[in-house]
Amino acid sequence: MSEAECIFCKIARGEMDAEVVHDEDDVLAFKDINGKAPVHVLVIPRQHVANLEEIGDLPDAVVKRLFEVSSAAAQKLGVTEGGYAVRVNNGPDAGQEVFHLHLHVMGGKRLGMP
Ligand code: 5GP
Ligand code: ZN
Repeated sequence: MSEAECIFCKIARGEMDAEVVHDEDDVLAFKDINGKAPVHVLVIPRQHVANLEEIGDLPDAVVKRLFEVSSAAAQKLGVTEGGYAVRVNNGPDAGQEVFHLHLHVMGGKRLGMP
C-alpha cells in the first residue's frame, strides 16, 4: 500500500477526518473508528512504516514518543489509574488490517489476552 492510498497517512495529512486526541510533529493519536473498549485510541508515527519489521526506518526519538504519547492519551482519557493495554497487531495472524504501524491504547474495562 502506497503512502498516497494509506488511510492512516491520509488522517496524518488531514485528508481524512479522525477524532484526534493528541497531535504533535511526528506522532498522532486518534480514536479508533470501531472502538472495542470504552477507551480505544490509535497512536501512529506520521512517517509511514508498515509494521515492526520497518521500525528501524523511524528515528529512535519517534519510537520512544509513540509510547510517551500512548501514556499521554491514556492520561487525557482518564484510564491510567484503572490501567490500559498497549498493543501492536503485526501481520495476518495478529489480525493487522491497516499496514501503517500503530499502537492500540485500550482501557476502561477489564482486558484479557489476546
Ligand atoms: P489493526 O487490526 O490493523 O491492528 O487495527 C486497525 C484499526 O484501525 C481497527 O481497530 C479499525 O477499527 C481502525 N480503523 C480502520 N479504519 C479507520 C479509520 O478510517 N479511522 C479510524 N479512526 N480508525 C480506523
Ligand atoms: Zn501510512
